[in-house]
Amino acid sequence: MSASRWVDVQIDLERVRANAAEIRAQVKVPAWAVVKADAYGLGIDAILPVLSDLVDGWCVFTLDEAEAARIWERTGRPSLALSLAANENASRYLAAHVRPAVWDVQRAKALREAKPVLSVDTGMQRFACPVEQIDAVLQAGKCDEAFTHATSLAGVNRLKELVSSRGLRLHAAGSSMLHEPQARLDAVRPGLALYRGAVRVSTPLIETHETLGPAGYTGFSASRHGVIIAGYSNGIRPGPCIINARRSRVIEVGMQSAFVELAPNDRVGDRVVLLGEGLSEADVAAAWKTSPQEVLCRLCGAGNRSYMGS
Ligand SMILES: *Cc1c(COP(=O)(O)O)cnc(C)c1O
Repeated sequence: MSASRWVDVQIDLERVRANAAEIRAQVKVPAWAVVKADAYGLGIDAILPVLSDLVDGWCVFTLDEAEAARIWERTGRPSLALSLAANENASRYLAAHVRPAVWDVQRAKALREAKPVLSVDTGMQRFACPVEQIDAVLQAGKCDEAFTHATSLAGVNRLKELVSSRGLRLHAAGSSMLHEPQARLDAVRPGLALYRGAVRVSTPLIETHETLGPAGYTGFSASRHGVIIAGYSNGIRPGPCIINARRSRVIEVGMQSAFVELAPNDRVGDRVVLLGEGLSEADVAAAWKTSPQEVLCRLCGAGNRSYMGS
């Protein structure tokens, strides 16, 4: 996936801050901001300073992400790595102030000095410890903390059942569970909820046409259509858009361009908004049949990022 030079990705850092402040006020337990995958595409370098006084720490996917962004040096706050890294060892984790998630005896033992955190399988069946090995991994890693990636309250309760009465700090909730007081436990790990509503993606209309008969690759029909310079190689898919404050649609997507449906007064140069201005990640995700997280990653990568606020 590459960026189109015709697509503008505007990131509102004030909105990211406001989202974090709202989460803090709501949950009243420590919040660990998930900044994996370049902060869901928004850009980890810009996000770290905006959030560092509002969160207790960071979640990355790998140790390498924390090292590359120099998270500890820049924020003075520790990280949790949710997955494993190539050529990992305890001293690298310690130097970067990152604690590794562990789910097998061998890694727990090898990384014991880095204070590993047990990842418990409550249904995800990925990067997590099967129930029957929990005690062995806890012991091998001398763990004082455990978490699960819960998608429902049942998963949260399962974590509590499986590791309760051992004095461990526990956390389970990502964005989808923040509203559940019982899911908050000792900390929360919001990703999407920090970034929602903060990104506007737009691109100009390059051509306009009165549609004559079947058009495009698929022979679509419309009364008018326009062309934008962003296609599937830039992460775009057919779905909703906004043109001149009116809901419209991306009808068909080619490799580096796409067709959009136009109203009579839409002109060359008018902005086609692919995200923002009331078009939410969730709206686009529903049309794309995917998650809001994927929408953010794809659309943030579709063009050139610029920042406002903070
Ligand atoms: C990505 C991730 C999160 C954050 O998920 P959101 O739904 O974006 O808030 C939390 N926990 C784990 C283990 C994750 O991998």
